[in-house]
This record gives sequence, C-alpha cells and structure tokens, in this order.
Amino acid sequence: MSTYKNFNVDTDADGIALVTWDMPEKSMNVFTVEVMDEIEAIVDATVADSAVKGVVFTSGKSSFSGGADLTMIKGMFSMLEAEKVKDPANAVQKLFDAAGRMTWLWRKIETNGKPWVSAINGTCMGGAFELSLACHGRVASNAKSVKIALPEVKVGIFPGAGGTQRVPRLANAQDALQMMTTGSSLTASRAKAMNLVHQVVEPDQLIPAAKQMIKDGLKPVAPWDEKGFKVPGGGIWTPAAAQLWPAASAILRRETSGNYPAALAILKCVYEGLQVPFDTGLRIEQRYFTQVVQTTEAFSMIRSLFVSMQELGKGARRPAGQPKTQLKHVGVVGAGFMGASIAYVTAAAGIPVTLIDRDMEAASKGKTHSEGLVAGAISKGKLTKEDGEKLLSLITPSDDYTSLSTADLVIEAVFEDRDVKKAVIEKVEAVLPEGAIFASNTSTLPITGLAGNSKRPVDFIGIHFFSPVEKMMLTEVILGKQTGDKALAVALDYVAAIKKTPIVVNDTRGFFVNRCVLRYMAESYDMLIEGVPPVMIENAAKFAGMPVGPLSLNDEVAIDLSLKILKATVADLGEQAVDPRHMELVSRLVEKEERFGRKNGKGFYDYPPKPAKKSLWPGLKDLYPQKAADEVSMKTLQQRFLATIALEAARTVEEGIVTDPREADVGSILGFGFAPYTGGALSYIDGMGVKTFVELCEKLSASYGPHFKPTPLLREMAEKGETFYGRFDPYGQVEKAA
Ligand code: NAD
Repeated sequence: MSTYKNFNVDTDADGIALVTWDMPEKSMNVFTVEVMDEIEAIVDATVADSAVKGVVFTSGKSSFSGGADLTMIKGMFSMLEAEKVKDPANAVQKLFDAAGRMTWLWRKIETNGKPWVSAINGTCMGGAFELSLACHGRVASNAKSVKIALPEVKVGIFPGAGGTQRVPRLANAQDALQMMTTGSSLTASRAKAMNLVHQVVEPDQLIPAAKQMIKDGLKPVAPWDEKGFKVPGGGIWTPAAAQLWPAASAILRRETSGNYPAALAILKCVYEGLQVPFDTGLRIEQRYFTQVVQTTEAFSMIRSLFVSMQELGKGARRPAGQPKTQLKHVGVVGAGFMGASIAYVTAAAGIPVTLIDRDMEAASKGKTHSEGLVAGAISKGKLTKEDGEKLLSLITPSDDYTSLSTADLVIEAVFEDRDVKKAVIEKVEAVLPEGAIFASNTSTLPITGLAGNSKRPVDFIGIHFFSPVEKMMLTEVILGKQTGDKALAVALDYVAAIKKTPIVVNDTRGFFVNRCVLRYMAESYDMLIEGVPPVMIENAAKFAGMPVGPLSLNDEVAIDLSLKILKATVADLGEQAVDPRHMELVSRLVEKEERFGRKNGKGFYDYPPKPAKKSLWPGLKDLYPQKAADEVSMKTLQQRFLATIALEAARTVEEGIVTDPREADVGSILGFGFAPYTGGALSYIDGMGVKTFVELCEKLSASYGPHFKPTPLLREMAEKGETFYGRFDPYGQVEKAA
C-alpha cells in the first residue's frame, strides 16, 4: 500500500523502488506543492530504507508530465503581491526561497547517495525534465509521443530548476542555448544525440532498461560532482567559446529584439554558471529566476499564454446549464479555400463532415485539399496510412442539401456576398433539424445582419476561422443580437473538439481581430504617406515584437481585399469613415499598378521566382517624398504600432464587443501575433499602467493624428488608477493592479 496520494512506490526483489507518478483526477501529471512534498518524502524514505538500492521514477499516465501547475505559478505571483504589502523588505527573499524549492529538491535527489533513473514514457516538459536531468540515469521510450522540452521561455520565464546548469554540462553550449532560448521540443533520439538521455528503448522495455541501469552499477553521482569534470567543449575560456558567445548574443538580439528578459537570462545563467562550481551555478540561476519572475513580461505572458489560454480552451466562456454536445455530424457549405480546410480540421477531430458546394466537382475539389494534407502527413510519418484513410472517410463531398438533415452544426464558408449567403442560409434551414446550429465563417459581414435571413436567429452564430485554418490556433466566436446560449455552447464545444482556442465577442464590423489588424495596416499607410522609408516601417514592427511587418502582412491578406474593405466601409458608413489618403494609396497600388499582393507576385514587395527572396518594391519610395532615416525615430514607430492596436482593443472593450480582457489578450496574440512579450493588447496597456498609456497616446495624437486620442474609458481608468484586469475582472473579484 502506497502512503502517497500522487505516487505509487513499489520495491522489487532487487531492491529497486519503482516510483510511479499518477495524480488522481488529472489527465496529466503536474507539479503542485503537494507533489513536491511527496517527492521529498519519497527521497527521505528511500534513503532511510536500507532495502532500497535505487529508484526508477516514471509516470502512470500516457505522458510523463507537463511541468508546473497553473495554481502553483499563480500562487507565486499572489505570494509576491501579498508579501510586498505585509513584509516588503523580505518579499523578494521569500520569492527567492520559493523559486529555489524545486532547484534544491532536485539537487537533493542528485546527491542522495542512491542511484535514481528517470524512465521517460511520454511528453516530458519543464520541471519534469529538470527532475529527470537530476537523476543519474535517463531512459526514454522511442514512442512518437515522447517530446522532451524546456519550454518555459515561451511563457516569459526560463528553466529555473537546474535546467540552465545541467543541460550545458551535458550537451554542447550551442545546442543547449538553442533548446532553452527557443523552448523547442526534442524527440527521444535527438535528446540522446545531445547527450541528454542515456538510452532510447522500445516502450515495453522502458522500466526493465531503467532497472537494468541500476543493476549494472549506475553510480549515484552526477558527472559534475566527480573530480576532474570538464564541461563539453571545454567551457567558456576556449577559442570555440570565443566564437560562440558573441554570435549567440547577436542571434538572440536578432530573434528577440531585446524584448524577452527570460531569453537573455538563459544566456547569462549558462555563461556565468559554467565558470563556477555547480552549486554556485544553481544559485546564479535562482537569482536570475527571481529577477525574471518579477518582470512585467513574465507576469503578463504567464497570465495570457499559460493561464488564460488554458482557461479559454477549457470553456471559460461556456454558458452555464448547457449540456455538452458530442458532435456527430457537421455540415460545411462552400468547399473553397476556407471550407475545404474547415472540413479537414473537423474530420481530423473524428467528426463526420458533409462538404457541400454548388456542384459535385467543386465539392470533390474541396476534399482533394484534405487528401493532399493526409498524403503529406503520412509521408512525414505524422499519420499512419490507416488513420489517414479513416480521416478521409469522414469527409463526404456532396451537392445535396438534404444530407444536412442529420447535422448538429452547419458552417457556411461560401462567397463573401450577402445574397449568396442569404440563399445558402435558406436552403440549409429548409433541411436542418430543429435545435441544430447554423454558423457563418464570414470575415466582414455582421452576424446580426446575416441572421436577419434566418428563421431561427437564436440558433445562428459566427465562427470565424483564420487562415491557414490547419495552423491557426484561434477562432473568433461571434454573438449576433439574438444568438442564444445553446448556439454558443455548441460553437464552443465544436471549437474545443477541433482543439482550437476560442474567443467570444459581440457583433461588430471586423469583429475583434480584423478591427485590430486593420489598425496595424492603416498605421503603416500613414507612415508611408509621411515618407518613412518602407524598410524602417517593416523593421520597426519587428523590433516592436510583431512577427510579420504590416506591409508584408497586407501582401498576404491581399491588397485588393484591403481596397474592397475600404470601399465597403465607405458604402456602409460614408466617406468620413475612411482616410482619403489611404483610399488613394491602396487604389493606386491595385488599380494603377496592379499590385494585389503575394497572390500575383506584386504587392508592397516584389516576389521573384524562388529561390530568390522577396524584396520591398522599389517604386514604393517614389510614391511619397522620403524622409532621411535619421529624421525618423524607430522607437516612436514601434510605439505607434503597438499603441494603435492596443487603443483599438480598448475601444472594443468600451463598446462592449469584448467583455473579458483575457479574450482581447489571447485573441491579439493568437490572431495576429501581437508582441507576445506584452501578454497581449490589453496587458500592454495594463503593463505600463493606463495613466502612462494615456500620456503616450496624447503625445502620439499631437503628432500623428486624432486616431491616437485616448478614449473616455481610458481617461477615466487613468484617473481612478484602474487596470483592465481589475475593472473587467474575469474572475468576478477585483484583482490588485498589476
Ligand atoms: P472561396 O471563394 O475560396 O470559396 C467559396 C466557395 O463557396 C467556393 O468553392 C464556391 O464554389 C462556394 N459557393 C459559392 N456559392 C455557393 C452556394 N450557393 N452553395 C454552395 N457553395 C457555394 O472563398 P473563401 O476564401 O474560402 O471564403 C469563404 C468565406 O470565408 C467568406 O465568407 C470569407 O469572408 C470567409 N473567410 C475567409 C478567409 C480567408 O482568409 N480567405 C478568412 C476568414 C473567413
């Protein structure tokens, strides 16, 4: 009988204790304070028990462990806040101690005197891999599901439980830096090649192989605790290192523009840590970790990219009292660019799909898209032939609407034309069973207007996908004026089934994401018109942390589509709704220069045949008198991009379009890559403080136009010292200002 809640300990006749981590009521093992306490108790017990010769540590779940638990990370921030009030002088010391708990517990395993072997049976992330690194032996299963990573940098922190010290003492420094500064995953064989695991075996050989290591006399001493230990490659003071380190800093600067304190801290930990004894290295890591955890970047990234993303994914906005829908049949009408991909992701989730178009030829062409994706996945070994065939068998092309009579949900992705959509809504509703939901994937037409064509607007909703559907993690769920709770619940159940993250927004022109994206592109039009050299515009956006420059993005979206949107805006809202200079610029590009974007090889960039790379169209500089580079402040350009988007996000909150700040933040990062280090468009404002943001907007509006004017809500919040997460608290209780 095991005395632990989260572990089973079973000692065999050879004296090897098999410790199996298997948390009750959790699908994945994660670190909690309780788990750490139990690990410590296990170390003490196995050390004290003379019958135990060694320990094999493994997991009872299909994965090994996902790393830290939400509550533990949240707890660290609330502890710091509380201590700052209670005992400000010692608050940071307490944080330092908390940050070191895992570090020194793993060190205790490493120095306990008996050999420990980690048997990695599945995904092994973060603190769990750091624990494994502290074991004397590591065996990993060769199952495809095994992914090994130290991904902390992706949420603004870094491997702070020995990762930055052990990885570069096992692998060469370049590979170690690459692994930790990108947070990317390793396969078991790559981990072995990097010297991070000792053996890779068939899944059923995992435990026997781990036990065998102990039986073969595995020494319970880490290499760095042996006399004469040498760092791979010779350490910091070698000619090779003299080449590596300047390059490493330069690459980091190029990749992060200095926006990610955690990534820089990894470099510092490794560089400084490799020059000192191991325990001192751990202490250096603990200090930097304590420093990084206190940055606005870490706080905001963890909140949005870890906590909020999980909460939204788990249905934080799902209306209460609605039973969960297991979708048995989904219809997709319109088998074009979007519809074909929507059918694919639906079938990939195991849901049968009928894919309808105007005729069989068009519908079948839509399925060809999935056939191509499946063939590609099979050839890369990502999908078995049987699974691929099964996926394709779930997609039925059709030109017959009666096949939708058993659908739970129908998503239309036909032409962006009110009349075409009206005809489709009527045809679908004529056969759709009662209670089934109709969703539109429109990108520009308000849902309430489209629902005006429906006999059952309560069951009508928007599910806005982003292209490429297979890759983009976000979907925007749009509520029309009359959309009911059931429609929302079904839409969210569907989005969860296809493993995407939803944000729920109220109806408006452009919804949330496109409204913000249009502001981003409009600001670049302003800059072009002012004569800012185009290359500075693109670079400033990247330095600000945007993954794609606005001109490049506009080329991807298509400049003729931008023109269409501008014209539709004028038609619907009047001339004053569009800046005439923007209209002139975009219509000149489209109508005079025939520059439509990437799709015709000519946009803000020229797209020569591969392998030549795209380059900014030289003619762009002739459109407006150019400023000299030193007349333009890169910093101001960066501020303009982020501020204009953040202001638009704030407007959507003020207008009641977005009601939960988590959705604006997650939507802005997943939808268009809004500078992730900020934690998203609203966290960008909260992070600097609303008052500072208002001052920045006032300054920008004086020089660059009234669109930067702070809104009444922002002014009021600045005056009251409020934050978005405080005023629009998603948890229903007022949080302290961040
Ligand atoms: P598309 O032109 O590639 O595909 C439209 C498909 O609808 C075509 O296959 C067409 O034959 C079919 N169709 C037209 N009338 C039909 C009818 N009466 N019955 C059945 N099928 C019909 O267009 P798309 O880019 O896939 O866009 C589709 C919808 O998705 C639009 O509403 C668009 O605004 C929206 N959307 C597009 C994107 C994008 O990036 N392209 C992103 C999000 C949303």
